[in-house]
Amino acid sequence: MSGLQRITVLGATGSIGLSTLDVIARHPERYQVFALSGYSRLSELLALCVRHSPSYAVVPSAEAAQQLRADLRAAGSATEVLVGEAGLCQVAAAPEVDAVMAAIVGAAGLRPTLAAVEAGKKVLLANKEALVMSGALFMQAVRRSGAVLLPIDSEHNAIFQCLPGDFSRGLPQVGVRRILLTASGGPFRQTPQSELAAVTPEQACAHPNWSMGRKISVDSASMMNKGLELIEACWLFDARPAQIEVVVHPQSVIHSLVDYVDGSVLAQLGNPDMRTPIANALAWPERIDSGVAPLDLFAIARLDFQAPDEQRFPCLRLSREAADAGGSAPALLNAANEVAVAAFLERRIRFPEIASMIEHVLDREPVVAVDTLDAVFTADRQARLLAEQWLSRHGR
Ligand code: NAD
Ligand code: MG
Repeated sequence: MSGLQRITVLGATGSIGLSTLDVIARHPERYQVFALSGYSRLSELLALCVRHSPSYAVVPSAEAAQQLRADLRAAGSATEVLVGEAGLCQVAAAPEVDAVMAAIVGAAGLRPTLAAVEAGKKVLLANKEALVMSGALFMQAVRRSGAVLLPIDSEHNAIFQCLPGDFSRGLPQVGVRRILLTASGGPFRQTPQSELAAVTPEQACAHPNWSMGRKISVDSASMMNKGLELIEACWLFDARPAQIEVVVHPQSVIHSLVDYVDGSVLAQLGNPDMRTPIANALAWPERIDSGVAPLDLFAIARLDFQAPDEQRFPCLRLSREAADAGGSAPALLNAANEVAVAAFLERRIRFPEIASMIEHVLDREPVVAVDTLDAVFTADRQARLLAEQWLSRHGR
């Protein structure tokens, strides 16, 4: 490792952001925080600035900036405050920065994540929605700039660890038969389908194995998370959707597997704690302590596997269809899902209506080629519009 690495954490106040700062704080000789961003939990952002002394903090509005500046001054902190998407892009691409943790949730993270990619940074990608929306453009930008893209999603980080160092020649060329993407099945894996209409946001957010932000928790409950991850894996590993199989594995101990033509199947195992993939990506290709307890196989005792149930989880089927369709389809899927999840969390729709809303949008909006970022955001806007129209007719 060469010297101290300066890190920007986009989405520092979230679940991934806080886990990242936990790992960083264990290695002050390796990492220094350059910038932190927050969106709604601004008193928590203040506390993080006092603790990690970043050069910059980024907040969404001028009012929030004014408040944070006053609070930082009172706390004797020298952190400078920047505002909005321009501020996020600035701290993602700043010449002083070595690595960027992209941990904003949803489409809001696309431009800042791309700014880090275009500046050729080491990009730790948690914000799967950014890649799902803009896959081809995103990967072109990675190749053009020479950015090092490291997956944080536990499954993709596992696959990355199970692939040979250089898989850029293509999966068949390095002997990969298929990728096995594991899924916990979420909190409703065994809930009778007839009861899904009555489940609450609280039940959806109570994941059996992982503690995460609310949006990804609902995505896990609907298995849209696995659908987004299928698309994410296609882009990260240059795979076709048919080369990726979803395997339900309720214990979340195996984080994914790679099946080779000689019959070898490589897996990465670990306790379900995001600090493992975060530490892996931060230190790659070295290894550092993440604070995660060693895996106790005797306590786990058994590992189970099942095929996914696409009847119960139509979001998985819709994602596969969007992956096959390509073009703007994944951006439409993602945007419709973001509106649907927010509506479910606000109790405006029932849980099964998340899939109905997405299917409505995908049925109405034609899929087009997306050659520019403008085209991606046009698809995103159009899907949100159709989803809102559906909501005004069917929502509460
Ligand atoms: P979270 O809700 O806990 O945190 C989201 C962060 O994004 C917060 O810091 C918030 O301030 C910021 N944010 C929200 N809306 C914003 C906006 N409009 N503009 C700028 N910033 C905004 O979410 P999370 O669970 O940490 O997930 C973050 C990303 O990582 C998501 O894309 C998720 O899919 C992915 N991910 C999370 C986990 C996990 O275990 N939590 C695992 C794999 C992937
Ligand atoms: Mg995941």
